[in-house]
Amino acid sequence: MAYFPDAWLEELLQRSDFAAIAAEYVQLKPRGGRLWGCCPFHHEKTPSFTISPDRQMYYCFGCKKGGSLINFVMEMEHLSFVDAVRQLAARAGMELPDRLEDRYASENREKKERMYAAMREAGLFYHHCLKQPMGREACEYLARRGVSAETAAAFGLGWAPAGWDGELFKHLTEKGFSPDLLVEAGLCTRSKKDESKYFDWFRGRLIFPIIGTHGRLIGFGARTLGAEQPKYLNSPETPIFNKRRNLFGFNRLKGKNPGRIILVEGYMDVIGLFGHGVTSAVASLGTALTKEQARLLKNSVSEVLIAYDGDFAGQKATAEALNVLEAEGLTAKVVPLPEGVDPDEFVRKEGAEAFRALCDGALSANTFRLRHLKAKYDLSTEDGRTAFARAGSRLIARFSPVEQERYFAELSAMTGYSPEALARESQTAASENVHKNTVTNYRNTRNAAIRPAKGQDRRRGAECLLLRLAIDDAAYIPRVGQKAHLIRSEDAKALLGLLRDLPRGDPEALTVFLNRMDPAAASCYAACMSLPPCADFETCFSDCVFVLTRMDREDEIKRLQMQAADPSIPQAERDELLKRIGELRGKNDEEGRGYEG
Ligand SMILES: [Zn+2]
Repeated sequence: MAYFPDAWLEELLQRSDFAAIAAEYVQLKPRGGRLWGCCPFHHEKTPSFTISPDRQMYYCFGCKKGGSLINFVMEMEHLSFVDAVRQLAARAGMELPDRLEDRYASENREKKERMYAAMREAGLFYHHCLKQPMGREACEYLARRGVSAETAAAFGLGWAPAGWDGELFKHLTEKGFSPDLLVEAGLCTRSKKDESKYFDWFRGRLIFPIIGTHGRLIGFGARTLGAEQPKYLNSPETPIFNKRRNLFGFNRLKGKNPGRIILVEGYMDVIGLFGHGVTSAVASLGTALTKEQARLLKNSVSEVLIAYDGDFAGQKATAEALNVLEAEGLTAKVVPLPEGVDPDEFVRKEGAEAFRALCDGALSANTFRLRHLKAKYDLSTEDGRTAFARAGSRLIARFSPVEQERYFAELSAMTGYSPEALARESQTAASENVHKNTVTNYRNTRNAAIRPAKGQDRRRGAECLLLRLAIDDAAYIPRVGQKAHLIRSEDAKALLGLLRDLPRGDPEALTVFLNRMDPAAASCYAACMSLPPCADFETCFSDCVFVLTRMDREDEIKRLQMQAADPSIPQAERDELLKRIGELRGKNDEEGRGYEG
């Protein structure tokens, strides 16, 4: 990272008006001492994005993103720290401190630019090959799958020549790209036997260009038309291609407001649906859905429909994707495709209207979970029905009370046991009856920041409030440090480590410090400063410690309950677990009482 001198950075930040810069992306209005607008990082209709009164930090009360001005520019423009500073300097009309130009960073950037250029050339080359005689077989395949020439062109589909002659390699080196760059970009490989010889990475395959969120070609997916393995091959990971952080087809949604996104398994599903006018489908890149991809989706939509294959592997992947999406706060539903049919086949046979109708009738996550569980049991036998009734009861115990009533009725219809018996089963079998226990509540905690929230939000609130005490009063730094084991989130830990160095009583130095701070820590700092200040530090401190300790115990209780609910463990072990759960609950109750008094 380049080291811009403090004085220079300070001048840059003084000359840069955060509100004016943000106003280029967001409409801002003053209210209650802050500036408010609709968040550019997640989809919303009522403003929860704010800029602090001193205009040092931004923070979104919806998606919880936050940070300094430089962080904001980095996020909005997908820039590195150095490039964001450069852009701000250009805007402010300031010369860059020349001798401090970070040569490594700029070389690295140039190399990436060359890589993007090579990718673009490769994409054009493959697309050209598709239209040549050698691409005929691929064209026939696409025609059989109902992909029109327009759709093929819209996705820039291509053909990689077969054989070991390195035709792409020849084409790109003639265009002036170095062999090393082509190897690093994952387009070619060097022969192990003869180091002067190069092969193309993709040979005799149908090519699917993968476009990054910024709209540039970053890699390729490729499918064989014959029996060769693997059937699908992707570009390797390169400095510009990260499978975990991109989605096939996602670039087409930029600037649009699809409302909901359809998550499919294959590139051909995205393309097939697109050809039938269903333009909001995306696919992960040959891996299970990652949390990074879920975050990407979260920034554009609030609802995701999963349309994976109806076979067992597809259903298992669906269950996993649901968990990933829900963990990121997205609403996810499941499109009930017939067994063994993928979305592409379905839309070809039944048409777009039928597919849309299927999407409109998508199953809620919990309905899917119950059906997915059911598929594991043989309901034609007494034993199978009983085992499913027990497992199903435990699953349902995790749902909300209103949902429980509905699903116990459904489970009853499936198994023949009465809803009452199933409900009792869920309670007696050391069930994960989490709700009841977590409600043993926190009415005693006196700070508004932690009182109304639940679950992760409450934990987050308490962690941030602890740090806020240490930000506002350095005397609390060592005390919060002693309670560091209660702080779990990585960004909060990072911030805690930096608090000693926080310049106090010097606003200009503070601005520079915050802008230099690690983005995760800066985001946490923004979250801390978004909280209302504490009136009574001591009460606040003990409230936070109380809440976090209690939540730790509750997490432990949940974990033990899950273990105890496993039907395969011996009774003695279950009794031991139940005893431990009782002890933890006892401690929480006792402290709760002490606290009240
Ligand atoms: Zn937001």
